[in-house]
Amino acid sequence: MTFEKALEALPVKGYLDIEIPKGTDLVAEIDRMRKEKNAIILAHYYQTGDIQDVSDFLGDSLQLARAAEKTDADMIVFCGVHFMAETAKILNPTKKVVLPDLLAGCTLADSCSGEGIREMRKQHPNAMVSSYINCDSSVKAESDVIVTSSNAQHIINALPKDQEIIFAPDKNLGRYINQVTGRNMILWDGSCYVHMAFSLERIGQQMLDHPKAKLIAHPESQKPVLQIADHVGSTADLLNYVVEDDAEEFIVATEEGILHEMRKRAPHKTLIPALTDDKSCNCSECKFMKLSTMEKLYLCMKYELPEIQLDEEVRLKALRPINRMLEMSKQIK
Ligand code: SF4
Repeated sequence: MTFEKALEALPVKGYLDIEIPKGTDLVAEIDRMRKEKNAIILAHYYQTGDIQDVSDFLGDSLQLARAAEKTDADMIVFCGVHFMAETAKILNPTKKVVLPDLLAGCTLADSCSGEGIREMRKQHPNAMVSSYINCDSSVKAESDVIVTSSNAQHIINALPKDQEIIFAPDKNLGRYINQVTGRNMILWDGSCYVHMAFSLERIGQQMLDHPKAKLIAHPESQKPVLQIADHVGSTADLLNYVVEDDAEEFIVATEEGILHEMRKRAPHKTLIPALTDDKSCNCSECKFMKLSTMEKLYLCMKYELPEIQLDEEVRLKALRPINRMLEMSKQIK
């Protein structure tokens, strides 16, 4: 189900407008409800710092999928975007999965549909479909294997060398994986607006201003940025790189939320968000990720809404390629 349809199906409208009594200690209340309702709060690294700090588990897509699969909590409160909460529901259907704001979509996920994949398959009948986890359940249901930026290279390398592959929906990640694996996958034309916005010219100036800084980039970024990067990796990988590498300064080309955890784990290092084309804000924040707020998290836990609902047939079809991914990437941290 797309998030628009889920929004239409929402049983209680306007609950986000309910006023929270002044002076409510949101952290304490969220903590109380977490215990009372046996809930687990899963948060993506791109969430705001306060939400990251209140979460039970913080991670990237792969880590969050594994946490969602394993949990024995009654309610999964997913602080991220819609396709991530859907993935949690696909993996653990008996749990109630709620998302602080149902409008937390994703330009990348929205660029692709199950119908689009079926059409592409018709044009390439011998191809298998490998989809990046940043897609909705209809796309997952039409895929043969799901990948994340942490395991894409590993999984694609494990497929037969002569296998034709369609890669959806991120063309930048697909192009990067083609380059590092020597494949020639057919790429869906989708992208993440945050990573597309990084400015080569402005990052070049940042490198001149900080000559000792290393540029690290997420593979959803465009090719010219990846070409000048000292290191390319998934969100979790970039975090580990900052902690473990000897350099003291880093220019970080991915969503800015990750800097919160980087600063916690490497407090003595200097972290500089890479600049985007938008000169008005210099920001690389995902507007969808930032729809989650502490107030919405509080309301979501209190009213146990909005809840992710999935068609069971679609869920079962989408589960197979996700399980295949989890099986194929067991050795990846
Ligand atoms: S950062 Fe990009 S890929 Fe991630 S949720 Fe936002 S729009 Fe989607």
